Amino acid sequence: MTWIEGRFEENVITTSLEQAMNWAKQSSIWPMTFGLACCAIEMMATGASRYDIDRFGAGAFRATPRQADLMIVAGTVTYKMASRVRRLYEQMPDPKYVIAMGACTVGGGPYFKYGYHVVKGVDLVVPVDVYVPGCPPRPEALLEGVMRIQDKIKAKKLARGASEVLPVPHHTGYVQ
Ligand code: SF4
Repeated sequence: MTWIEGRFEENVITTSLEQAMNWAKQSSIWPMTFGLACCAIEMMATGASRYDIDRFGAGAFRATPRQADLMIVAGTVTYKMASRVRRLYEQMPDPKYVIAMGACTVGGGPYFKYGYHVVKGVDLVVPVDVYVPGCPPRPEALLEGVMRIQDKIKAKKLARGASEVLPVPHHTGYVQ
């Protein structure tokens, strides 16, 4: 058994189940393909080779909410679109996270004062975990947002389960 002597420290780690699961989850975030306006172009750039969101394990964009655990709301949320955003969020399995990307999504952006057709913040429609400001935010900012989501996943307690996720607000005056 000489081959194993001195190798314990190199090859064996001890951890908790919670930490191991959170490590796996934070390294395999699956965002939903979901662009609403110009901010989506920066989201696409984040997925391309120069910024390479895959380095963070978050490059497997899914075309269905049922396979996604991260919704990046990238662009202008109109009142017509708001109910669709809510429907897609509800179709995602728990645990799930939301990034509000860009000034429009965060609070109405350039449409805040006169944009009668724009929701003044997507958090009126779905619970938001991370806000990424900018018009549009650069890919580095979105990557920073993904890292903040990873921090949230890292801190997640197994025992609390899905109920730890912020409650979805019930009907707001903004969703038709
Ligand atoms: Fe377009 Fe700026 Fe709104 Fe993003 S925040 S969707 S770049 S107007």
